[in-house]
Amino acid sequence: MENFNDYLQNLSQEAKKKDDNDILKAYKNQFSIPQLNGKDVVYFSGNSLGLSPKKAQAYVQNELQNWQNLGVEGHFTGEFPWATYEQNVKEGLAKIVGAKPSEVAAMGSLTSNLHFLMATFYRPHAKKFKILVEKNIFSSDAYIVQSQAEWHGFDAKYAIIYVEPNENHILEEKSTLEAIATHHESLALILLGGVNFISGQALEMNKICAQAKKYGITIGFDLAHAVGNIPLSLHDWGIDFAAWCSYKYLNAGPGAIAGIFVHEKHHTNTDLKILKGWWGNRFESRFNMNRIFEEAEGADKWQLSNPDILSLASLRASIEIFSDLDFDIYFAKSNALFSFLFDALAKIKENSGNAFQIITPFEDSKHGCQVSIKLKQAPKLLNYLHSKNIIADLRKPDIIRFAPVPLYNSFEDISVLVLEVCNFFKELVFK
Ligand SMILES: *Cc1c(COP(=O)(O)O)cnc(C)c1O
Repeated sequence: MENFNDYLQNLSQEAKKKDDNDILKAYKNQFSIPQLNGKDVVYFSGNSLGLSPKKAQAYVQNELQNWQNLGVEGHFTGEFPWATYEQNVKEGLAKIVGAKPSEVAAMGSLTSNLHFLMATFYRPHAKKFKILVEKNIFSSDAYIVQSQAEWHGFDAKYAIIYVEPNENHILEEKSTLEAIATHHESLALILLGGVNFISGQALEMNKICAQAKKYGITIGFDLAHAVGNIPLSLHDWGIDFAAWCSYKYLNAGPGAIAGIFVHEKHHTNTDLKILKGWWGNRFESRFNMNRIFEEAEGADKWQLSNPDILSLASLRASIEIFSDLDFDIYFAKSNALFSFLFDALAKIKENSGNAFQIITPFEDSKHGCQVSIKLKQAPKLLNYLHSKNIIADLRKPDIIRFAPVPLYNSFEDISVLVLEVCNFFKELVFK
């Protein structure tokens, strides 16, 4: 107990030291920090809605201004004409997901993009129609795969194979690899989350992808919680397709335009069918309005509609920040924040007679920056933290997620959180 008290006493000093050595600490100034009770909040919900880059306001304002001043001519005039605005984020997105610029496109929304991509990549037939997903999949993704199976005339009860996590919410790699081997003959598609939204567990995507390839099964990933959170090499891993939203770690704003990845190996495969819209037509002939679709190169041909420029503008602001980053330093800070928080929570847990469970795996490369805890009093703890200006979130009924984000969270933020968690458990901790 002595040690634990010493540890708590030194925690904020320790945090300050780490902040002093943090090469990325100035990035926080590029973001607007929300306020509660007239004070900056301590924000741990960047995994749900990333904070606003200050530049986003100017970039969005700029396009509103262009709309006012140029009207329809803004499509082809101005500094960043709308007709080609999406090109401004391609390189940056490609860098973030480890792809070639031709393999990515900013478009639509996550759920609808997954449906569009499944229109291409889920082509079931009587003997090979099943879809393998994880049991703890996000609700929207569950609805996607169920409704896709039904749309193709299959009974979702038989068509969806759910891989079960262990009793600690962890999806063991062995279970996934074995499930693929067991069901390979009937599997038409594997769709997994790169980082699980509840547990914060990162999957070893490359290994799972290799297993899928071994059995010739198409594999796609939902990267909602992975993009901007963990290192990705979608091209080198050979993943067939992926989709993500841009309002979590990519900080592009609520409901902002999403993104897709389609591996180069599929770009000229005429056996693959795509759902088409005019934005997937080559730029050069798009506005000729021909009856014959002339497909754009690369992932662009999956685009359907002219994109929402206001959210592309805020995405551009955010992507510019990422484009400047040294990712080795960024992910090193992510690991350091994670470890600092995880260690502290583990100590509280130990000294509070296991008042809660930590469900995020600690091993390297099995997590991003999120740490999730599970406890009966989760709603109470969340309210308590909120009363102390700390924002985190509850996954009903009993899980709280904390996501210290390397771009705008400090080690001090973590020490503030940890001390308040301790205060909440005071009776238990200091008994
Ligand atoms: C956030 C999230 C979504 C949200 O889908 P939208 O279409 O953007 O509303 C879907 N799937 C996962 C895994 C998510 O984390």
